[in-house]
Amino acid sequence: MNDIKKTNVENIEKCIVCDSKAINFLCSTKAMMHASNKKFNFFICKTCNLVFLNPRLSYQELKNYYTGNYLPYRGPSSWGKYEKFATISQKRLDSRRVKILKQHSTLNSGSLILDIGCGNPTFLNTCGNSFKSTLMGIDFSDNGWKNEKKKYKNLNLIVGEVHDLPKNLQPDVISLWHYLEHDYYPNKTLRKLASISNSKTKLFVEVPNYDSSSRKKYGKNWGGFHTPRHTFLFSPNNLQIILKKKWMEYRNNRFKREFKSLCFDLDE
Ligand SMILES: [Zn+2]
Repeated sequence: MNDIKKTNVENIEKCIVCDSKAINFLCSTKAMMHASNKKFNFFICKTCNLVFLNPRLSYQELKNYYTGNYLPYRGPSSWGKYEKFATISQKRLDSRRVKILKQHSTLNSGSLILDIGCGNPTFLNTCGNSFKSTLMGIDFSDNGWKNEKKKYKNLNLIVGEVHDLPKNLQPDVISLWHYLEHDYYPNKTLRKLASISNSKTKLFVEVPNYDSSSRKKYGKNWGGFHTPRHTFLFSPNNLQIILKKKWMEYRNNRFKREFKSLCFDLDE
């Protein structure tokens, strides 16, 4: 997350995707996967339907929602008697993501896979079974791996923010599996990632889909809100707009070529 430490509670006055000032209150939802009953407000852009948390939490407050008890950091063991099912389901998910990488990229021992917001880095570990590439993950906390260093010894894991990544990194693959919806500055993140990439770098993005049938079915109880950790909830149309603006255009200016492959998975 870019510059998140400098972020204070702030109101968003225009849409970060289409710049429209036509924004409406959408709903308030309770904190999810957390003991507090505090309520948070979501707004929606009338022009492109981007949904966003408003106001957002300061970094100091937000940290309380990403403790060692936060389930995605703890991995399957946190599911108690359901551990086995959680392990199987995580394995399936990781294999599905690796399969997507195989379909859309050519990776070898000289390649670099960079996973943004790697959390409990099972995806990168699964990549190690299929690719001989260098595997790098970054997250703003090491809660996802600090207790399992041996298991993840082949991974290059960094605690930091996207804007700290070195300029000359040039990954072959950048993956953002459920990262962008947590980000406070998705525009800056995409621009930074484009700036450290080369003409062949491929970007893989997976986010909860606000336009999905599950959101329509569950309404305010839809898990995709993940209140208050999800700051932006995208739909296919506004995700296309932000990727075109901040990833593709910047890259096209640098490399004078068409961007070939984007991979969306918006089934959730
Ligand atoms: Zn908009």
